[in-house]
Amino acid sequence: MTDGRIAVVGASAAGLAAVEALRRGGWTGALTLIGDEPHLPYDRPPLSKQLLSGDWQADRLGLRTADQLDALDLDLRLGTRATALDAGTRTVTLADGERLACDGVIVATGVRARTLPGVAGTAGIHTLRTLDDALGLQTWLSGAERRLVVAGNGVLGCEAAAVARELGHEVTLVGRDPLPMRRLVGDGTGTLLATEHERHGVRMLTGVLDGVETADGHVTGVRLTDGSTLPADTVLVAIGSEPAVDWLRADAALDTTDGLRCDEFCAAAPGIYAAGDVARWYHPGHGRHLRIEHRMNATEQAMTAARNLLAELGVTEDERRPFTPVPYFWSDQYGMKLQAYGVLAGADRAETVLLDAGERRVAALYGRDGLATGVLAAGLPPRQIRGLRAVIATPGPWDEAHARLLAAVGGE
Ligand SMILES: Cc1cc2nc3c(=O)[nH]c(=O)nc-3n(C[C@H](O)[C@H](O)[C@H](O)COP(=O)(O)OP(=O)(O)OC[C@H]3O[C@@H](n4cnc5c(N)ncnc54)[C@H](O)[C@@H]3O)c2cc1C
Repeated sequence: MTDGRIAVVGASAAGLAAVEALRRGGWTGALTLIGDEPHLPYDRPPLSKQLLSGDWQADRLGLRTADQLDALDLDLRLGTRATALDAGTRTVTLADGERLACDGVIVATGVRARTLPGVAGTAGIHTLRTLDDALGLQTWLSGAERRLVVAGNGVLGCEAAAVARELGHEVTLVGRDPLPMRRLVGDGTGTLLATEHERHGVRMLTGVLDGVETADGHVTGVRLTDGSTLPADTVLVAIGSEPAVDWLRADAALDTTDGLRCDEFCAAAPGIYAAGDVARWYHPGHGRHLRIEHRMNATEQAMTAARNLLAELGVTEDERRPFTPVPYFWSDQYGMKLQAYGVLAGADRAETVLLDAGERRVAALYGRDGLATGVLAAGLPPRQIRGLRAVIATPGPWDEAHARLLAAVGGE
């Protein structure tokens, strides 16, 4: 079957990879790509790095040119929100009421930044998820010296704090955990990051955001739950994200608890697949459902979802294949690149195998239920870092992975 229609909802990294894979895989029917942002697909990681620092302009973030997209012969609906999916009939409803009957649907709607209630329209308060968010914050930071509070010391908050500090602003980084990114990376790497932020003049505080203080529609400070107030003229709310599944909730056949739940083939229901930050799929190697907010995962998962959809529709003669990646993630802060393979989130054990704050070198192993599941490193030669993928390619006994990691990084 190569006529009919496939709709891909979400026109970003995963959505783009899906439509490209569908065309490569032989889908010649209508291919509708629906995205609620007005922009052609662009890359998000530079938003908190090169774009925020002013090193790159927005036009450098485009993932494909208009000509390259034209060649895919897409029915491209930008600035268009999908408001519902009927999984049984494979029908997507758009905000203007149009209903698209489809043979297959790939859900790639990502996540949205969490924010605080009641702050919309207050000057000086920002989130950082979209290009428009980043341009707004960048404009703000490109002017006079600011007193910035970054609420949330996870990956995004840490990256933005580093850039703002390098631009010369006064920066306070507030998080629930005393160490930056600790919930993800553990104590050793968290300590290294704390040292780096302190060395660059970021003030770090432990606390939980309670609300903001304003005057004349402008932020003047943030309130913490311990009753203290931090003065600020700019606030970045970096308190996490939520899967964009609101439009799927009306269909009881779909499980939208923490993302769209899928099987090992990335299928949520017959003919309905998901990929990228929104997808919570069963990873057979880890024996549990995972949802991964990493750039590379968005592309790889979309390619698998597209291939499996085409196999299900009989467009190809392939068997559907489970999606069993070794997840990869990176973060850049002060010229230091942290890289991780495997799964760190949800670890019940973390051990720092190598830590040299002076040389900004670190290597750490993460695990769960007695198995090693992830490895993180910084400051090692690229070849050594790439070699760490093999240490963790499949979850395995802790002691064996630990010995392999030690051997790989030359620790003791
Ligand atoms: C500032 C920033 C820095 C990052 N840095 C890194 C990094 O250093 N390393 C790394 O590995 N990852 C990083 N990431 C994560 C990475 O960018 C994401 O994993 C990736 O963008 C996920 O792609 P996606 O297509 O699944 O989702 P998204 O990129 O979130 O795209 C989803 C799209 O769907 C749209 N949408 C949502 N709902 C609807 C609807 N109902 N109808 C139509 N459209 C809809 C959204 O507006 C959005 O355009 C970063 C993310 C951000 C925001």
